[in-house]
Amino acid sequence: MSSESYLVVGGCGFLGRHIVEQLLARGESQVSVFDIVQRHFDSNVTFFIGDLSKPEDVQNALYKSKASVVIHTASPAHGMGRAIYEKVNVEGTRTLLDACQQPESKVDKLVYTSSGGVIYSGAEDITNVDERVDYPAVPLDAYNETKVAAEKMVLEANGVGGLLTCAIRPAGIFGPGDRQMISGFYGVVKNGQTKWQIGDNSNLGDFTYVGNVAHAHLLAADKLGSVYPYSQLRDPISSIDISLG
Ligand code: NAD
Repeated sequence: MSSESYLVVGGCGFLGRHIVEQLLARGESQVSVFDIVQRHFDSNVTFFIGDLSKPEDVQNALYKSKASVVIHTASPAHGMGRAIYEKVNVEGTRTLLDACQQPESKVDKLVYTSSGGVIYSGAEDITNVDERVDYPAVPLDAYNETKVAAEKMVLEANGVGGLLTCAIRPAGIFGPGDRQMISGFYGVVKNGQTKWQIGDNSNLGDFTYVGNVAHAHLLAADKLGSVYPYSQLRDPISSIDISLG
C-alpha cells in the first residue's frame, strides 16, 4: 500500500480491470477509474464516465480524483477505422497529458500502455531486440500508427513540468476477461478460415498473461523516477542483434 491516489484510464477494460484489482488487492485505498462505459461496480472505487478525447471529461476525473498516478490503458480495440484511433489514441492522449500538466493537477507519474506492435512493420521478422530499436518507417496499420504517436507524446512529456512518464509495450494479452483474442480465434474457426498457413511454420509470436502485464504497470508506477536515466542503462544501440527470418 502507498499514499498515492491512482486513476486507471480505461479501467473498465480487460487489462485496466486487472490493474484495478491488483491495486485493491495490495490495499490501495485511493483508486479511481475513468472509462467511456462502466462495466464494473465496486463500492471502494470511484468511477468517472467520460470520453478521453473531451478535455472537460478528462479534467473532471483527474482533478476530482486528486490522482497522483495515472495509468493510461484506454484505446479502441484493434481492427477499427483510422478516425476512432486518431480521436482516442492521439487526441485523447494529448488531452490527458495536457490536463496532467495544468496547475490543478496533482499527477506526478503517468504510465502508458503502448503495444509491441509499435516496432513491427509486418514486412520483416524482428528478433532479439529491446526498447532501443527504432519505430518502422511505415507502421503496420492505423492502430499501430496512432499507438506510436501516443507513445512518442508520452515519452516526450517525461520530465516536463515535473511529470514522470513511461510506456509499456505488451505483446498479445490473454487471460480472464479477454474480449478480443479468444473470440477472434473462435471467429476464425467458425468461419472456416483455418485452411491457410502464413509463413513456413517457424514464425514466433509472443503472448503474455494479463496478470503479469497488470503487475508490470504497478511496478512501473512504483519505480518511475527511482531508476537510472535511460542513457546510463545500456550499451549503445549498435550492439542490438536484429535477425531477419
Ligand atoms: P479493452 O478494449 O478491453 O479496454 C480498453 C478500455 O478503454 C475499454 O474499457 C474502453 O471502454 C476504454 N475506452 C475506449 N475508448 C475510450 C474513450 N474514448 N474514453 C475513455 N475510455 C475509452 O482493451 P485491452 O485489451 O484491455 O487493452 C488495453 C490497452 O492495452 C490498450 O491501450 C491496447 O492498445 C493495449 N494492448 C492490448 C493488447 C491485447 O492483446 N489486448 C496487446 C498490446 C497492447
